[in-house]
Amino acid sequence: MTKVLPNWLKKRAFVTPDRTAIEYKDQQYTFKQLHQLTGEKAGQLAAAGVKKGDVGAILLKNHPDTVIMIHALFYIGVQVVMLNNKLSKDELTWQLEDSQASFVITETTFLNKVETQHQWSVWTMDEMSEWPSITAAVKEEHDLDDIATVMYTSGTTGYPKGVIQTYGNHWWSAVGSALNLGLSENDSWYCSVPVFHISGLSILMRSVIYGMTVILAEKFSAKEANWHIHENGVTIMSVVPTMLNRMVHELGESIYPSSFRCMLLGGGPAPESLLKKCKTKKIPVFQSYGMTETSSQIVTLSPDDSLRKLGSAGKALMPSQVRINTEDKEAKPGEEGEILVKGPNVTRGYLNNLAATEKAIHEGWFYTGDIGYLDKEGFLYVLDRRSDLIISGGENIYPAEIESVLSSFPAVQEAGVIGKKDEEWGEVPVAFVVVNAQSAETIIREIKTYCEERLASYKVPRKIIPCNKLPRNAAGKLLRRELRKTLGDQDEA
Ligand code: ATP
Ligand code: MG
Repeated sequence: MTKVLPNWLKKRAFVTPDRTAIEYKDQQYTFKQLHQLTGEKAGQLAAAGVKKGDVGAILLKNHPDTVIMIHALFYIGVQVVMLNNKLSKDELTWQLEDSQASFVITETTFLNKVETQHQWSVWTMDEMSEWPSITAAVKEEHDLDDIATVMYTSGTTGYPKGVIQTYGNHWWSAVGSALNLGLSENDSWYCSVPVFHISGLSILMRSVIYGMTVILAEKFSAKEANWHIHENGVTIMSVVPTMLNRMVHELGESIYPSSFRCMLLGGGPAPESLLKKCKTKKIPVFQSYGMTETSSQIVTLSPDDSLRKLGSAGKALMPSQVRINTEDKEAKPGEEGEILVKGPNVTRGYLNNLAATEKAIHEGWFYTGDIGYLDKEGFLYVLDRRSDLIISGGENIYPAEIESVLSSFPAVQEAGVIGKKDEEWGEVPVAFVVVNAQSAETIIREIKTYCEERLASYKVPRKIIPCNKLPRNAAGKLLRRELRKTLGDQDEA
């Protein structure tokens, strides 16, 4: 028997038609309205010849029309490629070719980034609103094994890979999250992370599965986010460390109301200084670990444990498992190794990329490429990416740890650490820092002393190089491979 569930949005519009599904600026949509508008949009797509099994891409901003479009494509059974609207034209063209999309839906502002001399049709939301409609055969059920979305990884460690996310992956991700965070009828999730990223899309999926309001923002503003928490009943919000940092800063001396129950923090390592700041302000931070391949968080730490387990990402969610492998064996508690994950929210592989799929999945376990360890109680500590590990005189050094110390130095705005070849030690750590200071020379000396007081000597950066800006990808993640290139160029010069 195939595993099917009723079409989520249609069912939700039947169960709780009058609940608010989306709030955006001064607009509000109930689930019933969302379902109706989605049906109309699906009718327009069907009239244009879009059919089940097509691969179609969207390049859109956070907006209610984007939510309607995603659901309309699901209503027909299109595999939706979620394009990151911060990517360059070349990067977008590569992803469109790689996914073999037959059409791209975008908006006028992004038209100059979409290659038109190709096999895909390009449609703007504006022109589509004029299209005729037919009554579309709306999918009554979602087969959990069908592909719902394809989302490219951030491309931090290499070329992005198109991750297959099935309806089942999204379903189980939403269920796993609810089993951990709980559900309340009053919940209202603030979504200022992009919906083309799994952090945003997973909020939309939870909305229809739980019957929960999403307050959507086109982009992140710390001031606006804090206002929604204080004045507009937001109970949960998803953030990455840089967003949280800005919100804490903007918050000043005030504290959040008790109605705000969860700040879901993910996307990358969280500096300890930030977590400590949140603790003093009683912000209910849930640290989490996840990736595009796990359709959102797979490991989460609740605030109950955050004091005891500062810096941990928590325990695997109810439907999922995590283990640590070292030299192909399961590691002992405290022993470092590669993080492996398993569960119904984990991808079955990469689109049109069997080699990468076979490399990543073995006997049902997904090899994340991240290094970490589990403590005796089973709490996960993520150390860093395997590809960024520095081995110096036989000691493992994790750049994230050094970066965390560097960024806690007041004048350091951001820091990036990489390994540099060294005849004596094999590799030594080198840091790039963006500093806010008159005299870079004096400050660099102070930073070095600061590191010496806080880090074992082999972890203290051999060289601290001031720079104007650190290389980041469209997800805002630090590209250490670019720093390695810069260092290589400097050494050659
Ligand atoms: P690519 O796979 O193309 O290199 P990416 O891994 O950055 O890109 P994402 O899926 O957006 O793409 O990011 C997931 C990664 O983010 C994880 O594999 C991990 O390296 C990092 N990450 C997520 N949560 C945490 C966390 N709590 N602590 C440390 N790192 C984290
Ligand atoms: Mg990755």
